[in-house]
Amino acid sequence: MKPCPFGTHRVLEPAGALPQAARKLDNRLPMQANELLIQVETLNVDSASFTQIREACGGDKEGIADMILQIVRERGKLQNPVTGSGGMLLGRVQAKGPDFPGDVQIGEQIATLVSLSLTPLRIDEIKEIHLDTDQVDIRGEAILFETGIYASVPRDMDRKLALAALDVAGAPAQVSKLVNLGDSVLVLGASGKSGVLCCVQARLSAGESGRVVGVCYDEREAEELRALDACHKIILADARKPMEVYSKSLQANHGRKFDLCVNVVNVPDTEMASILPVKDSGQVYFFSMATSFAKAALGAEGVGSPAAMLIGNGYTPGHAQFTLNLLRSHAGLMSLFETRYGGKD
Ligand code: NAP
Repeated sequence: MKPCPFGTHRVLEPAGALPQAARKLDNRLPMQANELLIQVETLNVDSASFTQIREACGGDKEGIADMILQIVRERGKLQNPVTGSGGMLLGRVQAKGPDFPGDVQIGEQIATLVSLSLTPLRIDEIKEIHLDTDQVDIRGEAILFETGIYASVPRDMDRKLALAALDVAGAPAQVSKLVNLGDSVLVLGASGKSGVLCCVQARLSAGESGRVVGVCYDEREAEELRALDACHKIILADARKPMEVYSKSLQANHGRKFDLCVNVVNVPDTEMASILPVKDSGQVYFFSMATSFAKAALGAEGVGSPAAMLIGNGYTPGHAQFTLNLLRSHAGLMSLFETRYGGKD
């Protein structure tokens, strides 16, 4: 029987599930004709997942390594059982099945664009844990299914910088589709990795007549965002405190509600801070993996908000190139990524 394009041939339990929803994947099955085998160098753990693991381990690197190894041993994939999210990886193509589509070459360095929460993974060694970038250097192997998308690592930028940007490539690409000229946009988590990309893109898409307001948690990161000149106003607030965000953000927008709120924080309980400041005709884009569907849906109902709420699909066609080009086109953004994620000491 031909192996499944979506990878169900590797689902051990529960029967009938797709790999993302599966509790356990078979990461030992020999490589199938429609798969790609990758020698993994670095895992870019999803920020919500890494934050949860780091906090559960009190920031101890050995504890974090043990927890990551245990998850992968139990699940055959790096899917955080609390957040449900994964991340993505950087590695070299080790083997390509004859039925795997595309012209990727053996030895080519690639970043996967599908979640680690559905990617069969085996870790032989954890070499280093980078607490500041959520990245983990390992020795191991991963499998990409026939429908799994990936990007070649560009030659004109540091590979870990590219990995960081590609992890959140869907966010700025979606923002470019959601924001119209003249719109007001509120970004929660504005100085984080996807936050800075979204702020820069929102400013470009909203144009001169628009307004972009960024909500930051950390004054040092806010300073880095300020230097990009992407936001008309930056406010410091805790996104877990909806009334604080509501009053400060409306004040920063001349007392008016927003057309769009982009939620790119990495902690739970920020749904209402995203919904309250948005117009009835507006939209809330929940990119954060710490978002609770129940809290957003029931919370919006509870305050009588009919705003449209969008689940932050990590994929939109062309998102990888879009985001790499956004970085290339903005010297300040590139410099910030180099300082934070690689390419600059
Ligand atoms: P990041 O770089 O860690 O940024 C998160 C930001 O949120 C940081 O600036 C952080 O500030 C801020 N923050 C934390 N707690 C806050 C609070 N209480 N109030 C206000 N701001 C707060 O994360 P990222 O890589 O950009 O990812 C952002 C989100 O997108 C995460 O939830 C991640 O899981 C999700 N994600 C989704 C997809 C998808 O496919 N939908 C793909 C990748 C990532 P501090 O640094 O000061 O804590």
